[in-house]
Formats: sequence, C-alpha cells, structure tokens
Amino acid sequence: MTTMTVIGCGYLGAVHAACMATLGHDVLGIDVDAGKVEQLNNGIPPFFEPGFPELLAEALKSNRLRFSSDISEAAGRTVHFVCVGTPQKRNEYAADLAYVDAAVNALAPHLSPGAIVVGKSTVPVGTATRLADIVTDAQPTAMLAWNPEFLREGLAVQDTLHPDRIVYGLPDGEAGETAKALLDEVYENALAGGTPLVVTDYATAELVKAAANSFLATKISFINAMAEVCEASGADVTKLADAIGHDPRIGRRFLNAGLGFGGGCLPKDIRAFMARAGELGADQALAFLREIDSINMRRRVRMVDLAREFFGGSIVGRRIAVLGLAFKPNSDDIRDSPALNVAAQMKLQGASVVVTDPQAVANAQKAWPDLEYAESPQAAATGADLVMVLTEWDEYRWLNPAEFGTIVRGKRILDGRNALDREAWRAAGWQYRALGRR
Ligand code: NAD
Repeated sequence: MTTMTVIGCGYLGAVHAACMATLGHDVLGIDVDAGKVEQLNNGIPPFFEPGFPELLAEALKSNRLRFSSDISEAAGRTVHFVCVGTPQKRNEYAADLAYVDAAVNALAPHLSPGAIVVGKSTVPVGTATRLADIVTDAQPTAMLAWNPEFLREGLAVQDTLHPDRIVYGLPDGEAGETAKALLDEVYENALAGGTPLVVTDYATAELVKAAANSFLATKISFINAMAEVCEASGADVTKLADAIGHDPRIGRRFLNAGLGFGGGCLPKDIRAFMARAGELGADQALAFLREIDSINMRRRVRMVDLAREFFGGSIVGRRIAVLGLAFKPNSDDIRDSPALNVAAQMKLQGASVVVTDPQAVANAQKAWPDLEYAESPQAAATGADLVMVLTEWDEYRWLNPAEFGTIVRGKRILDGRNALDREAWRAAGWQYRALGRR
C-alpha cells in the first residue's frame, strides 16, 4: 500500500485516484475546484464516464480515498501524481503549462524526504527536466518521474486498471532506481498481470505521448483525406477502409472516415507538439501535422456544406436536428467537439438547430446557450427538415428509419460518422448522405 496524492481531479485524475484506491493504495485527491472536491467526496461524479460512479462509491467506502482542496494535506505522503490540465494557449499552438507549474510549485514545500512527484499530464518535451529542479530544490531527496497517461475517455476505468503499457521517464542514477522501485509498487497489479513496461528518460517519456497522439491523429486524417478523394471520384471510403484494413500492417481500427477528431487531447496535443518542435529547431519534422490538423478541420466545414447541398445552397430557416454533441460516444466531454462545432456553425448560418445528446447536453448548454436543446432524438427530429448524426452513440446507430420517418418534415439524413446502415435508411425512403460516399 502506497500513500499518495492525485493533484488535479478531472477526467484523468478523478478516475486515476479512484482506481488507485480500489487497488489498495491510500489516496488523497486534490483539486483547486472546491465544488468538484465536494461532489467527489459525496460520491457524485463531476463528469460522465462509464463505470466511474460505481468505482468512486466503492473507493470512498473503503476509506482509502478522499478529496481536498488543501495542498498542505499532501505532506507526509510518498507519491504525488500531477494530473492537471495542459490546454492550448489562447491564440497560440503551444500548451499552457500554468496549471502544471502552479501544482508543482504549490506541492514543493510539502514534499517529504524520499517522496516522488509523478507527472501524468501531457506536456511538451523538456518540461520534466525543468520541474525536476523545482522538486529537488525544495526537497533534495525527493524525485520526479514522468509517467504519461494513455487512457481513453469512455473506457477510462478499464484503461486505468488494465493499461496496455506503462511508461516511466526516470532521472539518471540512484534516484532513477529509487523512483522505479516506488512506481513498481504503485503499479504492482498491472505489472504482475503482464502489462509491458518501458523505462526511459524524461524526454522520451514525454515524446511517447506526443508521438502516440500524432500517429492516431494521422491515421484518422489519412482516411478522411481518402474520403475527400472518394467523394471527388465517386468511390466509397467505407469499402476502401475495409479493404486496406485487412492488411495487418495497416489495421481497420481508427480508419472510420467521418467528422474527424476532437476532444481535450488530440487537437491541442498535435498543435503543442508542432509548437515545441519549432522551439527545438525541428519544425520541418512535424510540418505534416499542420496538414493533419487542416484535413481534420476541413471535415467540419464539409459537413455544413453537405447540409447546404440538400437545400440548394442555403440552410436559412431550415429546421435541423443534430444527434450527438460529445466529441465521442460514451463521454460528456465537449472540448473541441466536432459535433458541437458543426451545430454552432449551422446556427450562425441561419438554420434553426435542435440538438440532443445522451450525456453532453448540460456541458453544451453552458458553452452554447443559444442552441435549442431536446431530451431525445425523437424530440429533436420532430418536424425537422434534416437529421444529422454527428456523434456515433450506439442508440443512434439503431434508430428505426421507418418510425423516425414519421416524425420528421423531410426524410433527409446526414451520417457524419458513417455509423448508420445506409441501405436500411434508403429502403425507408430517406435521402442519405455521408462523408466519403456517393
Ligand atoms: P480536466 O480539465 O478534466 O482536469 C484538470 C483538473 O485539474 C481540473 O479539475 C482542475 O480544476 C484541476 N486543477 C487545475 N489546476 C490545479 C492545481 N494547481 N492544483 C490542483 N488541481 C488543479 O483535464 P483532463 O482531461 O483530466 O486532462 C488532464 C491532463 O491529462 C491533460 O494534460 C491531458 O492532456 C492529459 N490526458 C487526458 C486524457 C483524457 O482522456 N482526458 C488522457 C490522457 C492524458
């Protein structure tokens, strides 16, 4: 059993804290947001994540988990995970490290001898070396390690309890060995279960995360670029993806053409990576990421264009139902959500937009109070001239096209995620369009 803090209890930190307590560690979650701390202490998840409510309840019941906004309570604990946000800076590509710096500076005076600060936030390469100095200046026998996190929202509990790999970025020498031994104790369960461990230096550990997200973004934008060529040539991108995906070197996963990626990680991480490469004089190496980003952003514009094409070029006054607001299914996260972005663009272009989502309505309402919100896909689609599926929640995949056809004003559907059964919708009399397909 290790005594630890988890500093920053958002999508990453709250799940990490509860998982660590479930695994037997004694965990104090710390967040500057007192409202979030109170909710978590009362077993109320501040966000939607499948399996998290049960996990949180179990962890609180074990008395090995509690939350606080007082960083001085970190004193005496051995391991301190840093899980605060690293958003994109306003009007810049670079990551804003103000929260990471604030967290480490606030923690430093409370570090005990031999304690370890473990960075999990996604940071530009070089950050760990800088933070390590803050840690050792405050407590010469304390250490810093970088331990990037790869969890996927929607699968965060499973990914935290059973990660597909663990990476330690460690200092050189004896401090590195001590840090490794402490981390091995923290991750004893996963390591015993055979999870691969990669032990490396700070810079490599930081770059692993940036490289992994860049690769995933590239794969998505690759298939979306193919979708553009398919549209221009009359081909079908879903069949193309199936065919190339059979090659195990390529693989079918992450090859679903559609509205592209969003969320609190991929977009800002590839931009921060480009910015950092520029500072290092390696900007040419990542010039391709600029194209990956613009292919991705073009999808949103193209989606609105497709909507306009249904109506001869203008959506002014048209009633459009948008199904899905979260950046991906099984999440309520709307950070840089392509779905919400498209809904907002259509509203700005004069359409009457009614939106719905199984989990993300409350978050979307705060960001875009001017959109009209509905409680169900049926309520959103009643009287609609066009229905758009922009987040591929399972419940939207299985809508009944015949029944749905009786509530709309015009049977037009835009499948922004290539998630629907095209033939079934067409058979029920709908005009069906999707990105990358005739
Ligand atoms: P988030 O915005 O949901 O959570 C960040 C939390 O940190 C907030 O609750 C905020 O109040 C708190 N915070 C800010 N400053 C603080 C401080 N000084 N002390 C204590 N708490 C503070 O963000 P997130 O999605 O959990 O992401 C956190 C980090 O993890 C980011 O660097 C992100 O890139 C990375 N990451 C996220 C995911 C994911 O799926 N969300 C996956 C892998 C990595």
